[in-house]
Amino acid sequence: MKQQNLFMCQQIAHEGEFIQGFCLNLGCQDLRSQFCLQCGIDPEKHTNCKKDLKGFGQIQGFITKFNQYILDLTNQLNKSYSSVKIKYEEFTKQLDNMKIQLVKISEGLSQQDYKQIQENLQMIKEWYQYSNNQNEIMKQN
Ligand SMILES: [Zn+2]
Ligand SMILES: [Zn+2]
Repeated sequence: MKQQNLFMCQQIAHEGEFIQGFCLNLGCQDLRSQFCLQCGIDPEKHTNCKKDLKGFGQIQGFITKFNQYILDLTNQLNKSYSSVKIKYEEFTKQLDNMKIQLVKISEGLSQQDYKQIQENLQMIKEWYQYSNNQNEIMKQN
C-alpha cells in the first residue's frame, strides 16, 4: 500500500489525486516534475510547461522511440566501424606490399640486378614525386 502512496499527488490541496505522469520539461520547477489531474489545470503549477506534461503511456511511447533511435545509431556506428576496418586492412596490406617491394629494390641495387630495379622503379618514381610535393607544401607553409 505504501508503494501506492508514491502515485498520489503531494500537493495538500490535491489530496487523493493520482499522479498521471511526469513533466518532461528540463526547466520544470515543480516538485518532482510529476502531475495529477488537478496540477494539469492549476495555473500555478507547471506554469511554463503545461505542454510538456506527459502521461505514463506517452512516456512509454517515448522510451520505445528512444530505444529504436539508440538501436539505429548503434547500427550506423557498426557500419562505419566495418567500413573503416576494411579500409584499414586494405591500407595495411598496401603498406606491407610496399615494404616488400622496397626490400626487392634494395636487394636489386646491392646485387646490381637491374631487371629487379626496373620492375619496381615505378614505385620509387611515385615516392620521389610524393616527396618532392611534400617539400613544396612545406615551403609554401
Ligand atoms: Zn496535483
Ligand atoms: Zn513542469
